[in-house]
Amino acid sequence: MVQFRNTRRAFIRSATQKISLLALGSQAIPALAEELEPVEELLPPEGILLEQPLAKEQIIAAKKLGIALVGLGGYAGGQLAPALQETEHCYLAGIVTGTPQKAADWKTKYNIPDKNIYNYENFDQIIDNKDIDIVYVVLPNAMHCEYVIRAAKAGKHVICEKPMAITVEECDRMIAACKDAGKMLSIGYRLHFEPYNQEMMRLGTKKIFGEIKTIEAHDGMGDTNGWRLDKKLAGGGPLMDVGIYCVQGCRYTTGLEPIAVTAVEGPKTKPEKFKDVEESLDWTLEFPGGIKAHCKTSYTKNMNLLQANAEKGWFKLSPAYPYRGQQGETSEGKMNFPSVNQQARQMDDFALAILEGRATPVPGEMGRQDVKILQAIYKAMETKKRVEIV
Ligand code: NDP
Repeated sequence: MVQFRNTRRAFIRSATQKISLLALGSQAIPALAEELEPVEELLPPEGILLEQPLAKEQIIAAKKLGIALVGLGGYAGGQLAPALQETEHCYLAGIVTGTPQKAADWKTKYNIPDKNIYNYENFDQIIDNKDIDIVYVVLPNAMHCEYVIRAAKAGKHVICEKPMAITVEECDRMIAACKDAGKMLSIGYRLHFEPYNQEMMRLGTKKIFGEIKTIEAHDGMGDTNGWRLDKKLAGGGPLMDVGIYCVQGCRYTTGLEPIAVTAVEGPKTKPEKFKDVEESLDWTLEFPGGIKAHCKTSYTKNMNLLQANAEKGWFKLSPAYPYRGQQGETSEGKMNFPSVNQQARQMDDFALAILEGRATPVPGEMGRQDVKILQAIYKAMETKKRVEIV
């Protein structure tokens, strides 16, 4: 017995046990740094030579956090679940759905055990489920607040889709709930993990073409339907849904926060359809240093542009915001970056942030700031006055 324990196999086995300790779920995560420190404890007695003792990084790499998707609609089914087949640090462990047929289909398709399938009524029982470390809320915008808070109260880390919520007050409650629970909150801002958009951040914030003077940011869809046309569920029209990417683009390209906004609602070419929300909207964000960002969004016109015009040249993405197929160019030539799975990168980074005990680059506070700006844009649209963003 003693002989057996004094082998490299035994060492690896005991290290594996240590990893499965970490696999106990989110409860174990805050203590992760402590858990990882004494790897030396696992070293075999002197005289046994190890070729490659497990490092902290290797232990982290061996752990995959379980994600439960809440709301199995177009984005969860079309993008997130497929991306979770490519992730290295997290996997699709559970689902929360109000549609029994989807529960049955996803169970088969993604091999999800019954004990990890919830509906909106029994969702809070997820507190007892050690397989689920992260809850990813992919519901209509007005439902984000309730489900993020319920997830935090169930002791889970949370990813919430954009827009974070429909009011700043909701964002505050979501941030507070996660903080109180000692859990991390991240927003589904996939473009922060996309190389062309990362290049816009670099060119802008490092002032590679000098000071930015103006920005053009346009994001529009040719058509939409369902809850996106219902203000109660969506919080607004295309501004909430896709115009938010223009706000994001301006913020991460300049690295600055807008100080004021003016806005003009576009004409309603389909008043029956757009009874509740704007059909299109143009707005101008003012940034420190006199930078002006001219932005447009629409539910009846396809648009997809992020362009910065600076002292010594320009740089732009067109399209800028899709799931794939970004194209970029500067006044000096074409950009050339690899195509990546944005959602896989985004979710892997959040899992790693939890495992490594570091902050996420796309936290709840970033989502709150966008909601604050969106609210100011609507106020400017309604009052037809310049609104300061404080
Ligand atoms: P869908 O309408 O396709 O799906 C939403 C799902 O939410 C439904 O399928 C349903 O799932 C559930 N749901 C629960 N209650 C309701 C309700 N009252 N009305 C409608 N659906 C309900 O929306 P999307 O997947 O396109 O969008 C979901 C969220 O993801 C939004 O916040 C959106 O902004 C965001 N999103 C983000 C994208 C990105 O690129 N980051 C891209 C697309 C969307 P079930 O049947 O399982 O209960």
